[in-house]
Amino acid sequence: MPIASVNPATGETLETFEPLDAAGLEQRLARAEAAFRTYRTTSYAQRAGLLRRAADLLDQERETVARTMTEEMGKPLTAARAEAAKCAKAMRWYAENAEALLADEHPEPADVADSGAARAYVRYRPVGVVLAVMPWNFPFWQVVRFAAPALMAGNVGLLKHASNVPRTAVALEELFQRAGFPEGCFQTLLIDSGAVEGVIRDPRVAAVTLTGSEPAGRAVAATAADVVKKAVLELGGSDPFVVLPSADLDAAVATAVTARAQNNGQSCIAAKRFIVHTDVYDRFTAAFTEAMRALKVGDPMDEATQVGPLASRQGRDDLAELVDDAREHGARVECGGRRPDGLGTPGLDGGWFYEPTVLSGITPRMRIHHEETFGPVATVYRAADLDEAVALANDTPFGLSSNVWTEDPAEQDRFVRDIQAGGVFFNGMTASHPALPFGGVKRSGFGRELSGHGIREFCNITTVWIA
Ligand code: NDP
Repeated sequence: MPIASVNPATGETLETFEPLDAAGLEQRLARAEAAFRTYRTTSYAQRAGLLRRAADLLDQERETVARTMTEEMGKPLTAARAEAAKCAKAMRWYAENAEALLADEHPEPADVADSGAARAYVRYRPVGVVLAVMPWNFPFWQVVRFAAPALMAGNVGLLKHASNVPRTAVALEELFQRAGFPEGCFQTLLIDSGAVEGVIRDPRVAAVTLTGSEPAGRAVAATAADVVKKAVLELGGSDPFVVLPSADLDAAVATAVTARAQNNGQSCIAAKRFIVHTDVYDRFTAAFTEAMRALKVGDPMDEATQVGPLASRQGRDDLAELVDDAREHGARVECGGRRPDGLGTPGLDGGWFYEPTVLSGITPRMRIHHEETFGPVATVYRAADLDEAVALANDTPFGLSSNVWTEDPAEQDRFVRDIQAGGVFFNGMTASHPALPFGGVKRSGFGRELSGHGIREFCNITTVWIA
């Protein structure tokens, strides 16, 4: 894929970018290594000052940043503004909390004495240059949730962003530079995915984090393993949204629509499989279908738009294939299931739109039962009882997060005990927050982002023992 900014609402190429040549890449790697040598010795207060300045710039420039994102990957402008605000909030959270999260740890005095030491403690030190391979779906947020903790820990960052969001990639580098971070602390590498392996293998790079698809994660983790470097992977998800009889059904329906359709359905933590107890199945499915059908699809720059285009033609075609396969194997199309005929807006006919879709009657013979739907397509399952709901929720290769609607504490405990996922959100939808760890199990990846767990992923946990 060439490195190009293409407007997904129209198919128009806005700008193309030359990838870095070998000399340009070498220069940036050398700069990163040099930056780490001194940046690692800066104080938390210095780093926090820089990160707060980046947050202030982001707040001041929210409108421009939001328009860049919407033009490049099609998320509704209102969502892009919210994403920029969320990034500033996370920067401030890490500026405020990193020092405490990485404070020295002191074991129990009796254990210190038992180890033969007069003193012993644990110090969290930065690991060095960390490569971040990032996706286009939350083009600012995915990067900031890596960069804010990494920079506060004293690491320096290299960003290989998705090839369809180069303007955002460049804007991120400039943001950190203008905030005053020393040269080389955060650099964008305009390279294609084929060049990632060489960067991971470079001795100046200490570790890698990737958010994206399973094949990309597998490739990156295999290279990292080959050179014995730490990797964190945040891959796809097919999160369940379980509705049990005690749920507030109106609230569940309203949240279900947001959880499925936000970001035009392109979110790893979107609810994708709706597993509904038979006692409330008919009511839920009718109301959910109605609400999905009523979503306003259109120009993402229009303030009233709820669902914009998918980010790429390939993404739209992949989604359509999954729906067609399900339909051919007997799924019932409750609504949608095709490209919209016309959006009533001139110029948008070349865009990569897909109608919000609800499918029922899903069986394991259908690809959609096992694969991730990265767009506004929901599958609805009927569960006879709690046991079947738990079994269906876990019947996926993924394990990112989960949503469960029930007022019954015993049912909640059952999911806390049995759900195979990195999170469970009751009576609400999964959302990331700087203070809460984020990541998955099974083929959704390993390691955690955000919170204290996220910032410690790229630290050298150093044991200090003094006789
Ligand atoms: P990819 O996983 O291909 O892209 C994510 C990032 O990984 C990009 O920077 C990409 O670079 C890079 N990359 C891709 N292949 C490799 C590789 N072999 N080695 C190193 N880096 C690589 O996602 P797509 O955009 O192709 O989306 C495909 C599917 O992935 C989606 O339909 C969805 O299922 C899933 N996905 C999940 C996301 C999540 O948030 N968990 C986000 C995005 C996608 P380049 O763009 O240059 O190829």
